[in-house]
Amino acid sequence: NLDQAATVTAFSAALPSRVQDLDCDDNIGYFIKKKLRVWCRLPSGQWESGIIQSTSGDCASVLLSNGNVVKVSTVELFPANPDILEGVDDLIQLSYLNEPSVLYNLQCRYSKDIIYSKAGPVLIAVNPFKDIQIYGDEFIAAYRQKLLDTPHVYAIADAAYNEMMRDEVNQSIIISGESGAGKTETAKIAMQYLAALGGGSFGIEHEILQTNYILEAFGNAKTSRNDNSSRFGKLIEIHFSTLGKICGAKIQTFLLEKSRVVQLANGERSYHIFYQLCAGAPTDLKERLNLRMASEYKYLNQSGCLVVDGTDDTQKFSKLMKALDIARISKEDQEHAFSMLTAVLWLGNISFQVIDNENHVEVLADEALTNAARLMRCKSDELMLALSTHKIQAGKDKIAKRLTLQQAIDTRDALAKFIYASLFDWLVEQINNSLEVGKHRTGRSISILDIYGFESFQKNSFEQMCINYANERLQQHFNRHLLKLEQEDYEVDGVDWTKVDFEDNQECLNLFEKKPLGLVSLLDEESNFPKASDLTFANKLKQHLSSNPCFKGERGSAFSIRHYAGEVLYDTDGFLEKNRDPLHCDSIQLLSSCGSELLQQFASKMLKQFQMDFHKRSVGTKFKGQLFKLMHQLESTTPHFIRCIKPNSKQLPGMYEMDLVLHQLRCCGVLEVVRISRSGYPTRMRHQEFAERYGFLRLETNVSQDPLSISIAVLQQFNILPEMYQIGYTKVYLRTGQIGTLEERRKQIL
Ligand code: ADP
Ligand code: MG
Repeated sequence: NLDQAATVTAFSAALPSRVQDLDCDDNIGYFIKKKLRVWCRLPSGQWESGIIQSTSGDCASVLLSNGNVVKVSTVELFPANPDILEGVDDLIQLSYLNEPSVLYNLQCRYSKDIIYSKAGPVLIAVNPFKDIQIYGDEFIAAYRQKLLDTPHVYAIADAAYNEMMRDEVNQSIIISGESGAGKTETAKIAMQYLAALGGGSFGIEHEILQTNYILEAFGNAKTSRNDNSSRFGKLIEIHFSTLGKICGAKIQTFLLEKSRVVQLANGERSYHIFYQLCAGAPTDLKERLNLRMASEYKYLNQSGCLVVDGTDDTQKFSKLMKALDIARISKEDQEHAFSMLTAVLWLGNISFQVIDNENHVEVLADEALTNAARLMRCKSDELMLALSTHKIQAGKDKIAKRLTLQQAIDTRDALAKFIYASLFDWLVEQINNSLEVGKHRTGRSISILDIYGFESFQKNSFEQMCINYANERLQQHFNRHLLKLEQEDYEVDGVDWTKVDFEDNQECLNLFEKKPLGLVSLLDEESNFPKASDLTFANKLKQHLSSNPCFKGERGSAFSIRHYAGEVLYDTDGFLEKNRDPLHCDSIQLLSSCGSELLQQFASKMLKQFQMDFHKRSVGTKFKGQLFKLMHQLESTTPHFIRCIKPNSKQLPGMYEMDLVLHQLRCCGVLEVVRISRSGYPTRMRHQEFAERYGFLRLETNVSQDPLSISIAVLQQFNILPEMYQIGYTKVYLRTGQIGTLEERRKQIL
């Protein structure tokens, strides 16, 4: 049923096009008769191709290419594509669209170091984990002059630049993918292209490229999945003059992972900058800061990992200093920043002594305390008090109440996290000041978004929820854009196109955003309620959200959400604290009284937030606000999408793990894209092309010789049913599988 073929549902991530589901002529008998290749899934989980020998009941015998015969369920048989389609540039060209075919096509290319492919309008980039010689000035020139037109980040950046210049419309390049998939590298490659194109006499393009260096030092860290993992999302907006030269830039960041400053998983590191500073600071700076080796700081040595293989932190530090100079951050400000970093490290070494049997503590007066206080420019006594007591109102007076050990540790860590996160924001602000050129022009900018992709782990918490929420928003943006493109394409070519009946993910977004009964609002409400706990929060969700089809209450403090990319189980453990992100009043007061100007600035910003309604400053609501602003910005641009894929989890070259790739293709909706793009008429060939390839098959050759007439004659001669094709003004449009029939005839005759 063709109408059904055009219906796309958001959750059917797996593609159904099995051999047995194909239309009339294409079913299993046909495959046996014609000895057509199929994909079958072996008990090992591996996909292999072969030829069906026979069937009995629901079982088929398949002869594999290695000579073995296996028995598999007919449900597990998928048609393989004809040889001419092996390793095609664009997945849309595949006659048969199914998971093994897509996987095989990408693998085929990857094994030849062809890491880029297209899925309709989307660029797929498979991380090579090695240097491939496809970048640099020569390649930039080749793409610019259209000497090369194979899929590449350069081609995407070129298209964005051209459309910007032609239409005077802002453009965006939206990059997504899981950690380690290559988003940040891809963003840099796109920036490199734009810098080469838009380089002017001011050298600002050089400055923009250097900012990556600063952001990576302060915002990236070694994790188990990526030695240089960005722990924040970023949007960089590059502005161009009427002549197409870069005239300024602006950076926005999202959700820096603060917890990494104080807590590390085994084998992971904190932010690169700490190790770079400890290793690379010149002796005089070290003395001024009283800075020790990284191994002496608890915030750094807790994970048993101080170095990253193949990177030299000392060398990186000197590069960073240069980058800071280029970003015009004064030497004085640089030293202030380094003092703050060292203060954070010393804070982590501050320890507590239990003084009574109620677990109340006192701060140990050691060098950690004095060094931290000196760098923050406050008195040791004041720092001591702020970390071990809590002032409460008792009648008219304020009295100090001692903290327990856990409270004291939390207070210290909250202070360290706050200082680091504020420093990060401050740096971004400095960079923006230096990159800003005059008033913001509209209509001539390209924004590059590098943001964490959809995440689904064994244990998912508040952070995953925020990330996945952002991805739902981006997915909706993506779907809407794609469908629009698709329909425009048909309309322009005069093809009758009944609109695709498309189920989008609005329901899931409602689950997050509805007021007052949406996840974000309910979380704020509970976070603001003193007696609430993570469990009462979970119960509240179950009580109010169960009617939403995307929500499912689970046992205890858990719930799950049906995301476009699959179902994710969340545990509310820690949600309230993470949403409150508390900093004690006493800590803020301490910071305001510090001699350090930076700390005073940070404190006054925080005080302003404190005066706001809780609902306006909770982490969840702030993130939602940022996201809305981001979407609003993106909506006024023409988007270009890049999906990065991690081919293996070992960060090794030449290794392609089918299941891992498949999971990502499903998560980022690539298969859906291809399906939507093909749900109508996937094969599209210019009349000329079609006539050249199949024209000689005609029996009757003495009629009209124009490409259009030849094409029609071919289609009629081969009895391609009228509902299986359409003739547009410029192209022939064919339904799935039709091109296979023609190809086969062509092969027989040649
Ligand atoms: P993500 O930002 O998605 O977490 P990165 O961009 O940091 O991932 O990439 C992880 C690593 O993969 C990089 O440090 C680099 O070693 C490698 N890599 C990614 N893209 C490329 C590429 N195009 N060419 C060579 N290596 C790459
Ligand atoms: Mg990254």
